[in-house]
Amino acid sequence: MLLRKSIDIYEKLSLLANGAKYDVSCASSGVSRKNLKNQVGNTSRFGVCHSWSSDGRCISLLKILLTNFCNNDCAYCINRKKNDIYRTVLMPDELAKITYEFYRRNYIEGLFLSSGIIGNPELTMEMMIKTVSLLRLKYRFNGYIHLKLIPSTSEATVSEAIKWADRVSVNLELPNKKSLEYLAPDKKMDNILNIMNFVTKTIDTLKEEKTFYNSRGGQSTQLIIGATPDSDLEILRLSSYLYKNNKLKRVYYSAYVPINDDSRLPVTKPPLLREHRLYQADWLIRFYGFRIDEIFSEKKPFLDENIDPKLAWALRNLHFFPIDITKASLESLLRVPGIGPLSAKKILKLRKLANLDINALKKIGVVVKRAKYFITINGKFFEDKKLYDKTPEMNKIFSNRNSQLTLSL
Ligand code: SF4
Repeated sequence: MLLRKSIDIYEKLSLLANGAKYDVSCASSGVSRKNLKNQVGNTSRFGVCHSWSSDGRCISLLKILLTNFCNNDCAYCINRKKNDIYRTVLMPDELAKITYEFYRRNYIEGLFLSSGIIGNPELTMEMMIKTVSLLRLKYRFNGYIHLKLIPSTSEATVSEAIKWADRVSVNLELPNKKSLEYLAPDKKMDNILNIMNFVTKTIDTLKEEKTFYNSRGGQSTQLIIGATPDSDLEILRLSSYLYKNNKLKRVYYSAYVPINDDSRLPVTKPPLLREHRLYQADWLIRFYGFRIDEIFSEKKPFLDENIDPKLAWALRNLHFFPIDITKASLESLLRVPGIGPLSAKKILKLRKLANLDINALKKIGVVVKRAKYFITINGKFFEDKKLYDKTPEMNKIFSNRNSQLTLSL
């Protein structure tokens, strides 16, 4: 382990923001921009990420670790004990002050605070709680706080942590015990699931009481994709379980990035397209009413990376189409490629007031170039062709890999 005798605050921030960047359970897109003549402000690549508040606003967060010291040895993590990296820690009063100063200068609107384990899990979590309670009480900070929970922390401490944060999360990282034991032998899946169950119960109580910051918040988790041979089916089964039983706000999928030289890990490029397809399938289950067995079969437990899963379902189920948008139910509209939940609801509303045509559909956000193959309006196909007339055209479009990659739900 490498320790610096003297280290300035900028170096500390750099080390600790760098150590946090692989956690995607708040979405991130750091930019780097120099201060320009006659302009105010510059940005630094590390440290600021973007996330969405419960009312849908995009907010910038200081994304940072309390410390990159860690007792654990998770194979995929840059901060694992085994790695020879410079280590440092920000004390709670130091970190609370930095966050407040950043906020005052308009650099950020909130904080995403995670940590390696220093001393023991309880001590680490207490330091994190101290940081956010200082922010809330001493600095009267009312902005967004996302707090990572450290596994193996007592319920009393987790309870205290939940009080101060808008969102809390504990990372499951891998979808089953076997994979977790293989790559993160210090972590126990039952332990993490127990914390998640406890958080669910506690947040429900806080919501009833309508108290504390988390009364509108919730919890999320992260799964690493591609570090183990686990299938997309297994990953999404777990996500569905967590959405249903633990009322998770989000499951984040993080394409595995090879950082460490470790024989347990594959040498591979981050599977970004697979990650994207998993997010699409996740949305189909949460917002479009799809069941897992409609997206996968036991024989085909991986998503086809070449085509988005909603379109893949539609092409496997052409007997379901065309559907007439002047009569179809919300559930049927949601099955049409190019129609999303918002545009489906607008169709239901608008068709009571006026006759729908293709231009009206475009105006309310339907992606007509995709939907036109699957819908009729008052019994008529767009361009007056039947679905089977379109099949060669559809095949041409959907067999072009490049165009498939740009298709969205
Ligand atoms: S517990 Fe594992 S994932 Fe978390 S910081 Fe330590 S080594 Fe990294």
